[in-house]
Amino acid sequence: MSINRKPYQLVSREWQPEDTIINIGETKIGGSNFAIIAGPCAIENEQQVSTICDFLAKCGVTMVRGGAFKPRSSPYAFQGLKEEGLMLLKKAAEKNQQKIVTEVMEVATIPLVVKYADMLQVGTRNMQNYPLLKALGKIDKPILLKRGMSSTIEEWLLAAEYILSGGNKQVILCERGIRTFNQDTRNTLDLGSLALVKTLTHLPVIADPSQGTGVRDLVIPMSKAAMAAGSDGLIIEIHNHPENALSDGEQSLYFDQFKTLLEQVKNYARIEHRNLQLNNNTEDITI
Ligand code: PEP
Ligand code: MN
Repeated sequence: MSINRKPYQLVSREWQPEDTIINIGETKIGGSNFAIIAGPCAIENEQQVSTICDFLAKCGVTMVRGGAFKPRSSPYAFQGLKEEGLMLLKKAAEKNQQKIVTEVMEVATIPLVVKYADMLQVGTRNMQNYPLLKALGKIDKPILLKRGMSSTIEEWLLAAEYILSGGNKQVILCERGIRTFNQDTRNTLDLGSLALVKTLTHLPVIADPSQGTGVRDLVIPMSKAAMAAGSDGLIIEIHNHPENALSDGEQSLYFDQFKTLLEQVKNYARIEHRNLQLNNNTEDITI
């Protein structure tokens, strides 16, 4: 093997040429698979989360998202339901045999979040929270590591290296947009970097077109673009009443938009010979 001159080692393709595939229940992320994760930005109440999870189950979605610890720019904004939210998400997901991804913001709450989550999300604001990354290196659940909003690719991969070097090899990277001069979208979904990162690391890389654009009508086109760029999956925000959402309503899809997204993603997956990770034993949905 040639000497790896990159500052990161364990995450690099020089260390491991073949793709890492991460199994979360029946769902596979990485390789030729294409995973779909969806759910509300934040868990708000039982009715909201169960309505959304039930709808997603009918669509065949096997992994749901929802924040209970929300990193909000304003201290006056809704901060999440904490453990009560995790219990509500667990109840709604278990009913539909869905796996859970949810954010962990600090070391002290890892034991609590681990009880409910099948995959723990590190948000953009915490990508360089090194005590958090080190602690997540010691658990044996997959980590979804969002890219810092101002991070270089090298910083992002080094953040993943912290987790792998601690012993946890199950890391999925997530391109969620970066800060640029453009003020017309919330962030700039950096799909060029996503394509590049796929060549540098064996870890799966997924895209978040919801935070990546901040505009619900841009989510479908950027989802297709992400798949074309080599993404291993998508994480999508959806809400039963986006206009009443307590966070990120303007970027949350309506149910009928989500159905359209899935139809289009299914077509694209066929063209690209990607193994779409949906439960096919579901009834056809009419809403
Ligand atoms: C989210 O997924 O709702 C979120 C807060 O993500 P990010 O950390 O990418 O902003
Ligand atoms: Mn959000």
